[in-house]
Amino acid sequence: MYNIKCEQIPTVNKFKYSSANKFIDKYKRKIDYFRISVTDRCNLRCFYCMDHERSRFSLRKDLLHYEEIIQVVKLAVQNGVSKIRITGGEPLVRNGIVRFITTLAQIPGINDLSLTTNGILLKDFSEKLYIAGLKRVNVSMDSLDHDKYAYITGGGNLRKVWEGVDEAESIGFSPIKINVVSMRGINDDEVLDFAKITLDRPFSVRFIEVMPTGGHNFWRKSRHIPVSEIKERIERIYELFPLSGTDSNGPAREFQIRGAPGKIGFISPLSNHFCSSCNRLRLTADGHLRTCLFSDEEVDLKTHLRKGAYNDAILSLLKYAIDHKPERHKLGDSYNSNLKRGMFAIGG
Ligand code: SAM
Repeated sequence: MYNIKCEQIPTVNKFKYSSANKFIDKYKRKIDYFRISVTDRCNLRCFYCMDHERSRFSLRKDLLHYEEIIQVVKLAVQNGVSKIRITGGEPLVRNGIVRFITTLAQIPGINDLSLTTNGILLKDFSEKLYIAGLKRVNVSMDSLDHDKYAYITGGGNLRKVWEGVDEAESIGFSPIKINVVSMRGINDDEVLDFAKITLDRPFSVRFIEVMPTGGHNFWRKSRHIPVSEIKERIERIYELFPLSGTDSNGPAREFQIRGAPGKIGFISPLSNHFCSSCNRLRLTADGHLRTCLFSDEEVDLKTHLRKGAYNDAILSLLKYAIDHKPERHKLGDSYNSNLKRGMFAIGG
């Protein structure tokens, strides 16, 4: 972690900051997508994300207050960020989330506001979130089989997730994206069932390669299944038509079965990484900036926010983090990592 004392905060001048500069890193990537975790707590225990027994959650006092997050978001938006995703942990378990989204949705300059959820509480929250100004959601769903879903998630109820998805659709959320973390020997036998959802429903079903994040013992290379293999399996049955390259938010390559209302996306963070076009900056629930999912290097923003740092100092820290964004992730061919944080503690 980069521990920067207050007196060491790089000055704005050092970065030759100008309003035209925006957030552009050394590799000329425009950083316009901010993923914000509002909590590391979750109402599920997916075994590829956290360890049931060993995972520890932040104390409430260590979570950024919503006001602090809003302060950071406004600075980011003034500097070119236009896409915001709210994530966690499970964002819907944090008190006050609807009010927070209402405030976010009113910040001029955010033209894409979205939320990632496991869907368990989505039925109850859909209408309130929609009224608050949220118009699209990603829902994680790793199995269509009730028992297997409960096994993967440590007791989750798949019926509740579907009720949430149905409610979100009827209220008008669009697009609704269903994220499936693909794991060999666990849920890869369901590839076609997931693909078939797109024949009837206007959802984007996205297959995502399982990643070697920290915080759990699940990761083995043998559990990784490249999305190319998943695509091949679907193509044995259905012809897939490519849709203009990527989805609007980056890394998914999207396809459609002819005549289907839905889409099928493939996200390959490991087998075909998209670092050269990575436009992301992450803020963890405990107030650290992280510029790469696969690097534990972080910039501690919370300490400075809590010491009352002025906006130009906070902006300097944002620019400092972006300046240190690695060119690409450093996972070798084995994809093994010694990352400290699990995805729940980073904000996936
Ligand atoms: N609770 C919300 C949810 O379930 O979508 C948001 C947080 S969750 C950490 C965000 C996403 O990260 C989920 O889609 C989850 O499946 C994914 N994720 C967690 N650990 C992962 C891993 N090791 N590899 C790939 N995706 C992972």
